[in-house]
Amino acid sequence: MAQATQAKASANPSLVTGLKRWAPSPTVRIAMGLVSMLLGLLMILDLILKILPDQRAVTMDVREQVSVHLAVQVRRMLNETQDAAHLQNVLVELVEQSGDITSLAVRRSSGVLYAASPHHDQTWEAPPLGSSTINAVVVPLNAGEQRWGQLEVGFRSPWPNSLAGWLKNPTVQLIGTLSVACFVAFYLYLRRVLQHLDPSKAIPERVRVAFDTLTEGLLVLDIDGQILMANSAFRGFHPQASGVLLGRAITQLDWLIKGLKEEDVQRPWERALQTTEPILGVQVDLSHDGGEPRRALLNCAAVRDAAGNARGCLVTLDDVTELDQANSQLRSAMVELELSRDKIQKQNEELQLLANCDPMTGCFNRRAFFSRAEPMLEHALKTGEPLTCFMTDIDKFKSFNDTYGHAVGDLVIQQVAKILKTAMRPQDVLCRYGGEEFCAFMPGLDEQGAAEVAERIRDAIEKTAGPAVDAVPNLRITSSFGVAQLGKGNANNALLLIERADQGLYAAKEAGRNQVQCIDWHPEKAAEAAH
Ligand code: GH3
Ligand code: MG
Ligand code: MG
Repeated sequence: MAQATQAKASANPSLVTGLKRWAPSPTVRIAMGLVSMLLGLLMILDLILKILPDQRAVTMDVREQVSVHLAVQVRRMLNETQDAAHLQNVLVELVEQSGDITSLAVRRSSGVLYAASPHHDQTWEAPPLGSSTINAVVVPLNAGEQRWGQLEVGFRSPWPNSLAGWLKNPTVQLIGTLSVACFVAFYLYLRRVLQHLDPSKAIPERVRVAFDTLTEGLLVLDIDGQILMANSAFRGFHPQASGVLLGRAITQLDWLIKGLKEEDVQRPWERALQTTEPILGVQVDLSHDGGEPRRALLNCAAVRDAAGNARGCLVTLDDVTELDQANSQLRSAMVELELSRDKIQKQNEELQLLANCDPMTGCFNRRAFFSRAEPMLEHALKTGEPLTCFMTDIDKFKSFNDTYGHAVGDLVIQQVAKILKTAMRPQDVLCRYGGEEFCAFMPGLDEQGAAEVAERIRDAIEKTAGPAVDAVPNLRITSSFGVAQLGKGNANNALLLIERADQGLYAAKEAGRNQVQCIDWHPEKAAEAAH
């Protein structure tokens, strides 16, 4: 049977762990052992000294006395009258009144029943050799010296025939109460006493000395989280850690528990006991009155037996306050460095802008313009894709300066530059070429396409630039444009292309300003050619 249970348990691992989980603690087992020993001792003493009342003897004694008393009464009745029927009625009445007597009979020496209560023959178990048993008592009835017959008294069995009946038995109740009371007393006493025993004795001295050499604080816990050992580094961790640690539950170390994050419901050592993996790097913030707050990292690993069952837990505490401070200093230095790097980058960008752009209009200066125009030119020459240039100059600009002053002149230049910049595509490049002159390179557009763009810009300047200068009402600003395409005429480098566009600009000024002139293409001529 036991083997079968074992086989079943090994086939079902959860049953095994379930049984292990419900295994009584050592204190309970010791208390149970002591109770068993006490009961055993009691039984031996009872065997020798008969200290417990002999219930059987007492019962037998009482039943014999009752039977003798009944026999006296029966004998008296027989002396008075020989009426068997009357005697029978008396016997029936006696059985009915008594709870213990099951049957009564008067039997003659010949073995014939003289008078009996009902069913006596069926229930009567005649004791051997006329002596009495606990359930059947025989009392002789004599007439003078002669044996006339006997009184047979059948009793109920004094022994209970159910568990409830046994529990009502005074001896059983006495032993049960004694056992429970002793168990509770032993358990409480042991629990108290075991706490005061030095559990560190379980750890060999040389191991303890070795642990004391560690700079990390170390605790050895048993399966219930009670401290079996604490090394000297652990005792130095906190003023409250120097007191009595052995035998105390780790959860009683308030200074340590307070340092753990509250959201972790399960403590790290409890988790370590449940999982096979060690729990590493749990942050603990330790503080105490009048002391610097310290930070430590707590690591837990279960100690297992050969079968892999957790037997206890190793808890280490590593002070990382200095490391943490150094880390936060490093972090703030990194942040500062990043800020200054961003600042430098911004300054560089500003410098770049200053170096590349004209501060008044934000357009590229000549140097930046040429450094971008050259690769465009090379690409166009290599691929044969069209590249056009336009030059533009504000008409009669001098008059703005002369009439309204240089400040207004500057505003006029800025408004025209704004319209020009808005009109440019991302691939185009625009620069302030001189005072109120601008130059643009537009890749992918031929002369006609560029002329159309220039015309749109011209129109926009004429319509919007003047009204945008708030300082002077009803100002009219116009610009003239000259357009040239790379490869047309002698324009096969940047300067020559610009020069040809400038020729177009000159032509536009000559033709009455506020217009676009292409050096190699004329809309009228193109229209004529089309006809
Ligand atoms: P045109 O239609 O023939 O171009 O006539 P114009 O008056 O514009 O003639 P011109 O190109 O000779 O005039 C340019 C003037 O622009 C000369 C100069 O004093 C002025 N100028 C150049 N740069 C600036 C500047 O940055 N701000 C201001 N306010 N004026 C400038
Ligand atoms: Mg000019
Ligand atoms: Mg001008």
